[in-house]
Amino acid sequence: MSTEPKVTEKKVVDFVIKTSKFCNLRCRYCYEFNDLGNREMISSTQLDQMYHHIADYYGALDHPTEINFVWHGGEPLIHSPEFYWKTFESQKEIFRGRSVSIINSVQTNLTVLDEARLQLLKTGFDSVGVSLDLFGGLRVNQSGRDSVALVLKNLDRLQAKKIPFGCITVLTQLNRPYIEAIFRFYEQMEVSFRILPLFKGAFDSQHIGFEITPYEVLETYKTLVDLWFESDRFVMVHPIVEHIEQALRHRCDRSRVTLYDKRQWESIFLVNTDGQIYSYADAYAGPSQGNIFTTPMETLLNGKAHQLVIQAAEDRLRSTCHHCPYLGSCDGYPVAEGSVEYNEYDEQGAIRCIVTHGILRHIEERLDQARQAGMAELPTEHFTHWEKSALSCAV
Ligand code: SF4
Repeated sequence: MSTEPKVTEKKVVDFVIKTSKFCNLRCRYCYEFNDLGNREMISSTQLDQMYHHIADYYGALDHPTEINFVWHGGEPLIHSPEFYWKTFESQKEIFRGRSVSIINSVQTNLTVLDEARLQLLKTGFDSVGVSLDLFGGLRVNQSGRDSVALVLKNLDRLQAKKIPFGCITVLTQLNRPYIEAIFRFYEQMEVSFRILPLFKGAFDSQHIGFEITPYEVLETYKTLVDLWFESDRFVMVHPIVEHIEQALRHRCDRSRVTLYDKRQWESIFLVNTDGQIYSYADAYAGPSQGNIFTTPMETLLNGKAHQLVIQAAEDRLRSTCHHCPYLGSCDGYPVAEGSVEYNEYDEQGAIRCIVTHGILRHIEERLDQARQAGMAELPTEHFTHWEKSALSCAV
């Protein structure tokens, strides 16, 4: 009998917390647009109630869990830094002795920045995400003035203080023509970034003039794949790097099958200002699963509303991914949960997986071309050891 201690794999769960809807900007695509003037915010007491429910549930599991609190808004940094310092102290108290690790991330428009907030970003939060579209002029203040110049100035302040950060760029019809310039900007800055296709708006006509189709998202992702393969530097561009890994796994390592199983583990919840929690795919549009300020996590997860959204995700995965050649290398998350916003539906109401399926095929085509060119076209220094072995098999 082995005397080796059993190593249990750590699981990760994100809680995206809507601190308040209040914001100094009026980004024209914001899905919180109708509430951006509302100053109502989550109280410290409500946060403590939520921490207790989360600690009781995840702390009792038989494996370690990393809990990532993603502070969101509105603009989360519009609130006083003391609010966050106080809640970080509460977390230490409430999670002490539990088999969980706590991460605090913030997603900010980076337009409200002083010395106290710089200190908070440097030593309070574990990770900083900055919203920056670079082109398109949609991230404006109440007078319609573009915020991009101010954000760029403040990025310099983060770098001067050695505060690491990543960026999110929302892809719309207005910045799509500049995708190479966007890639070059982050490449030169050596900053990781995520391209996030325009999300469902706050009202029907909100996105007129800058909507984007799934086919345009796919073409943009293809351009990013090609730029990534051609670049001399390693650029961490999401979700492109994940798709490259999936395509390599599809060709070379099909034994590593991964499937998204929401029933077994849900990896992301959105917590609204009133405590109602939602699955990622159902944020605001679908049913809330109950109130995490007043209800234990286990009750929420076993509740009827949660079981219904699990069933809906499983149905989506079954009807769309069942015959897909990539299922297993791709875990089906884009259809089950992640990107239902920018896929199309067929006559039976099943999702057509245009973006993820299309980008995996495109990467395979690029691998075929590299094979014909004797691999010289691939920047192999970018790859990890596993990816290099996968590559030598793939091409
Ligand atoms: S249909 Fe799309 S989400 Fe489903 S396995 Fe295939 S590529 Fe992945």
